[in-house]
Amino acid sequence: MHSPHHVAIIGGGYAGMAAAVELATRRIPVSVFEASRTLGGRARVVNLHGRKLDNGQHILIGAYQETLRLLQQVGIAADTHLLRLPLHLEFPDEFCIHAPRLPAPWHMAAALLGAQGLGWAEKWAAIRFMQAMQAAAFRLPEDMPLTTLLDQHRQPARVRRYLWHTLCVAALNTPAEQASAQIFLNVLRDSLAAGRSASDLLLPRVDLSTLFPDAAARYLIQQGNEAGADKPTLHYATNIRRIEQIAPSPTPAAPTAARYRLLGDTGECGHYSHVIIATAPYHLPPLLAALPATDALARQVADFSHQPIITGYLAYPEHVRLPQPMLGYSQGIMQWLFDRGQLDGHAGLLAAVISTAGPHLTLTPQALAARLHAEIAAIVPHLPAPLWCKVINEKRATWSCLPGLQRPSTETALPGLLLAGDYLAGDYPGTIEAAIRSGVAAARKIS
Ligand SMILES: Cc1cc2nc3c(=O)[nH]c(=O)nc-3n(C[C@H](O)[C@H](O)[C@H](O)COP(=O)(O)OP(=O)(O)OC[C@H]3O[C@@H](n4cnc5c(N)ncnc54)[C@H](O)[C@@H]3O)c2cc1C
Repeated sequence: MHSPHHVAIIGGGYAGMAAAVELATRRIPVSVFEASRTLGGRARVVNLHGRKLDNGQHILIGAYQETLRLLQQVGIAADTHLLRLPLHLEFPDEFCIHAPRLPAPWHMAAALLGAQGLGWAEKWAAIRFMQAMQAAAFRLPEDMPLTTLLDQHRQPARVRRYLWHTLCVAALNTPAEQASAQIFLNVLRDSLAAGRSASDLLLPRVDLSTLFPDAAARYLIQQGNEAGADKPTLHYATNIRRIEQIAPSPTPAAPTAARYRLLGDTGECGHYSHVIIATAPYHLPPLLAALPATDALARQVADFSHQPIITGYLAYPEHVRLPQPMLGYSQGIMQWLFDRGQLDGHAGLLAAVISTAGPHLTLTPQALAARLHAEIAAIVPHLPAPLWCKVINEKRATWSCLPGLQRPSTETALPGLLLAGDYLAGDYPGTIEAAIRSGVAAARKIS
């Protein structure tokens, strides 16, 4: 039986492709419109010096249940496409915490007690904080900046620096002084305080378009071949400019009929019963301009602020290798350093990550690359000069995860007009897991 619906999805990032997969699985006709020639949005492949790399180095964690479920659904084997490592945070010669393969919660207690670079009083302070949050079910009566919560629980400077602030910037991409303590606790609850595998680090072994969106596109085509007439369609390089409402004319065969018309750069892009807008929040207002009922929504997202993430790729001779696939750094502007040779086989290629805003943003790409090389040389002995460097600055990598920020929900003021994206109301900060969850949730509103 053919579905009475035809759903348009605007945006082929992780959220949009998750929505498309969910709809295609349920045989609901879907058309995806992606402005770029590449799927993945803020988590996408870029071609550099003949290599398939990413617009920014990403980390997933074991708690990304919905992401792992969808990867499996579209035929991506997590075992081969992600390097799974027990939580291991190492700042060479300063700090190291490693979660041993013990059942929860012993893995985390053992990790904190065994942390190198903290004294006993500091370790107990960290354990006490975790216990207090556990006792409160990781819920705060009122949201506050993370540093306020850490003050209340007398967390020592080094515990903040190497643990809580580090995890906050890695997960929320927002400095601890500004970050939502509640969202931080949500992440803590689902990772460090959950089963042991939930805190595992999952490092992509393929580029980020291959990891999910391209596989999702293949899945759509395959479902289409099985679905007969109502094949999903995927339109690359198609920028949607505006959504317009049209008077619905339902028939017994198509009870909901078309309610929306999409207009793209090159003209009309069809009529749809439902539209899922799966863009970043800053792409929403122009799309909503012809829909006055959504004015409040457009104003709400216009108030969001964003945080950058810089990834500096530095290619060295192939023998250059880090002692771990991922290292922390606290002595300069670099925060994390990844060895792509140990991830996707690009031997000698290092990816340095700088999250959130800071004085480094005033540096030119050349000066940034030189600075990153100097900082890498401080932890990699006998480092030769890089063969090439490329700095990618994603200026609006994620929305600033501020205390009490009101975020939109899946449904809008208009029937059949739905939202997906990492910024929607939910437990998580702007992450791949938030994007995927939001896409699945939007698709499930359509029955
Ligand atoms: C450098 C960097 C590092 C990050 N690190 C991590 C990490 O380690 N772990 C993690 O979980 N998350 C990380 N994130 C966040 C993660 O990438 C995002 O949360 C996630 O990709 C957001 O997905 P999305 O589908 O909601 O939005 P987007 O990825 O922004 O997708 C929206 C899509 O819509 C398209 N689009 C926009 N307007 C239109 C239009 N008018 N017509 C058609 N198409 C349109 C865009 O081209 C885009 O493809 C990082 C992000 C960046 C940038």
